[in-house]
Amino acid sequence: MPTRAAPATTCDVLIVGGGAAGIATAASLLKRQPGLDIWIVEPSERHYYQPGWTMVGRGLFRPERTVRMTEDLIPPGAEWIRASVVAFDPDHDRVQCADGGWIGYRMLVAAPGLKLDWGAIPGLMETLGRNGVTSNYSFESAPYTWELVQALHRGRALFTQPPMPIKCAGGPQKAMYLSADHWVREGLIDDIQIEFHTAGPVLFGVKAYVPALMAYIEKYGVDLRLGSRLTAVDGPGRTATFAVGGPDGGVVEERREFDMLHVCPPQTAPGFVRDSPLAAASGWIEVDDSSLRHARFENVFALGDACSAPNAKTAAAVRKQAPVVAENLLSVMRGRPMRAVYDGYGSCPLTVERGKIVLAEFGYGGKLLPSFPKWLVDGTRPSRLAWHLKSEILPEIYWQGMLKGHEWLAAPHHLPATPRAVEGLRP
Ligand code: FAD
Repeated sequence: MPTRAAPATTCDVLIVGGGAAGIATAASLLKRQPGLDIWIVEPSERHYYQPGWTMVGRGLFRPERTVRMTEDLIPPGAEWIRASVVAFDPDHDRVQCADGGWIGYRMLVAAPGLKLDWGAIPGLMETLGRNGVTSNYSFESAPYTWELVQALHRGRALFTQPPMPIKCAGGPQKAMYLSADHWVREGLIDDIQIEFHTAGPVLFGVKAYVPALMAYIEKYGVDLRLGSRLTAVDGPGRTATFAVGGPDGGVVEERREFDMLHVCPPQTAPGFVRDSPLAAASGWIEVDDSSLRHARFENVFALGDACSAPNAKTAAAVRKQAPVVAENLLSVMRGRPMRAVYDGYGSCPLTVERGKIVLAEFGYGGKLLPSFPKWLVDGTRPSRLAWHLKSEILPEIYWQGMLKGHEWLAAPHHLPATPRAVEGLRP
């Protein structure tokens, strides 16, 4: 633990991470309290709209459509500190940056996202973007997915999904369905063997959506391998190795040759989060699931992929979380009870074919939380309207709404205004 020293600089609200969650929270805070002193620590000069990478992997979005300059997205009134945080020191209300300097705060919002652990799969990093190995989980390699899909006319295509939690739990399946849809349209599907290897025991974690997805697994002739975890990749040898649960409870190693391999990498909390006093035993930042305030540090909030709340890690979740954090943080600053409640909403628009989506929207415990009446969009069935939502409307909601504090489709729920302190939501 670092020793106490006066921070060189101090602000009222420090936001760590200027991704979806950091920028949205800054915008929501400034909407409620213009003039608030907010600093955002973010090392990257580029900000990515990651949900667009699925569309890049099918040649439907140009990659440039998914990236903007960070400096253009910092809400007016907030200050961008271009640096990386390397340590949290919540006992002394400060963080340390990579250059060794400290920044102090009155309130902290931790939103540094998660770590894509490419290195956890031996052989993967060396071959990603070459030898038929690709991933929509990176800006650099998503265009290569589309190159491979177009070039494959016969052979074997493998799609892999690591253990949960991952961001956008449907991401690995989306890549597969859209690729298969192209092969159907080109009349190639009978010559391409598709395998989906997921480390999990089910195709999708919320039961209501499984029948619609299984219909596509059958339509595309996918060989569904449950409990099969990617452990190594030999790019030049075009072979992937899996650990597969055996019938006696043991683990069997299995090798599969491929012509195309789409990998979703294992995902963890970033190292500096795991090693910090903010972490839960799981490594994620330990928050109260409803208020999103830290479980032990009263002036700390966390949201987005880095926090411990058991929602689907999605930008859709962030859209709902940011106003909750903004409201509750300002209540704490003003010495009032926190009233805004996050219900665990997350959404995964499963692109089952070009032009149709199974729009999974659910909260804590898998409770279905549809945004639209069933006659308009029935989330448990493929929908054309949901496709327009994903391909045209949601990017605008992201860039023009969520990152600018407009909070479309994101109004927080509130506890009744009583002076009584509520467990987990005390000021
Ligand atoms: P991020 O947006 O990843 O931002 C984290 C930020 O923290 C980054 O800017 C990073 O540079 C910064 N940072 C990292 N380390 C530090 C540090 N040490 N100090 C300071 N800053 C740091 N969501 C949906 O809602 N719908 C979808 O259809 C969807 N599809 C997806 C498809 C793919 C292929 C992927 C990869 C993601 C998808 N998502 C989708 C998920 C969504 O993009 C994420 O859940 C969302 O971006 C999380 O926001 P975040 O701010 O927590 O993390």
